[in-house]
Amino acid sequence: MSSVRVRFAPSPTGFFHIGSARTALFNWLYARHTGGKFILRIEDTDKARNSEEFLNVIYDSLTWLGLNWDEGPKIGGDFGPYRQSERDAIYREYLQRLLDGGRAYEKDGAIWFKLLGDRHEVYDDHRQKTVTKVKTAPTVIEDRIRGRVERTEDEDFVIVRSDGNPVFHFVNVVDDITMRITHVIRGEDHLSNASKHVELFKAFGAPVPEFAHIPLILKQNGPGKMSKRDQGALVEEYQRRGYIAEALVNFLSLLGWNPGDDREKMPLDEIVRLFDLPGVNQSNARFDDKKLAHMNMLYLLELPADEFVARARTFFDSQAGDSPALAADATYFREVMLLSQPKIKGIEELPAYTVYFFTEDFPMDEKVKAKVLGKGEPKTRLNELIAALAAMDFSSDEAIENAIKAVAETNGQGFGAYQSVARLALTGTNVGPSITGIMRVLGRERTGRRLTKLAAAI
Ligand code: GLU
Repeated sequence: MSSVRVRFAPSPTGFFHIGSARTALFNWLYARHTGGKFILRIEDTDKARNSEEFLNVIYDSLTWLGLNWDEGPKIGGDFGPYRQSERDAIYREYLQRLLDGGRAYEKDGAIWFKLLGDRHEVYDDHRQKTVTKVKTAPTVIEDRIRGRVERTEDEDFVIVRSDGNPVFHFVNVVDDITMRITHVIRGEDHLSNASKHVELFKAFGAPVPEFAHIPLILKQNGPGKMSKRDQGALVEEYQRRGYIAEALVNFLSLLGWNPGDDREKMPLDEIVRLFDLPGVNQSNARFDDKKLAHMNMLYLLELPADEFVARARTFFDSQAGDSPALAADATYFREVMLLSQPKIKGIEELPAYTVYFFTEDFPMDEKVKAKVLGKGEPKTRLNELIAALAAMDFSSDEAIENAIKAVAETNGQGFGAYQSVARLALTGTNVGPSITGIMRVLGRERTGRRLTKLAAAI
């Protein structure tokens, strides 16, 4: 068994966004690739900004994405508790070690971490006060993604605030030590903290974990990092919109990593097999919601019929208002959904895409209507179809197609002359599944009624 132990350490201060999901995923993938452990740790020391609601969103989103944790809240483990708000005693013990070893001291009510090196006072113009500078050697971080990074810490820093709350750097490192974390895989925004963290590890005499800082995700349009406020940034939004979790995971895996060739859609076990830190790009990745939608469509197309129908029903159920689709016969609902499956890009399109199957009161696209009725002899074509309906074989798309072709031939017309006007009568639009599929699913009776209604209106 591998000794790799990685952790995802979110702070429940906001909704769970794409960047967090990607960090969680890369940790999870690394753990699964190496046969190590994936630990979930909640960094909730900032009581004012944390909420239980956000915490539940983290659990739900990770669970939805399939990123199961081996140790952490809800399931426990040998190195818990896994919420920082429950680890006070551990922090106090570790603080005492620093105090006893002369590596921490109190000043102005706060507790400071003491760097080692020659000290001198200088006046800082910017902050308009005298500060103590410490002459130290640069801290070296051998980052698995960024390579060698050097940074010099030259001032002591606060580790426990005057209100008694420990600071992020301190609890983060104490937890990584006590939870025996071997690899710290996190967003590049934390690279600037790594030197402080390394100095803390050393002060505790603890081994420094490997660091891997993953590149930022840039917002879709324009410069800068994608933020929680950007459109499409929240994971639960995709869940709500009926996205397939596996598709989102596949998409996220490619935000800053590639399998070494230009493959995109890949089964999860293949991603796990190929994922490794050297494969993570140094350059930033750009979010692209069209690419995500496309990936989702590829997964939708492959869903087995039963699963697609079940997901469709769940989505209709989740929509506000009573869709007549929910009251429809289950077999009919299934047929409608399976007819639509190869045609849509996302589950969320289904209600609008299938509206005319479930009501006689469906919208008519007036532009399409004007165009279709403005050419040829639409009324005659409709009446010819209506006349043939009673004898028409509705058992398959092919049978219906042959029947329409026969009507067309008898009347010296092309198939298209019937298709566009029938589509208008049956659906009110000029897009959708094949006309034969629509007729088969609607059935002889509904088809006849709608054709007759339009013929009478012309
Ligand atoms: N709580 C930090 C964050 O949410 C995690 C820092 C780390 O992974 O070391 O960004």
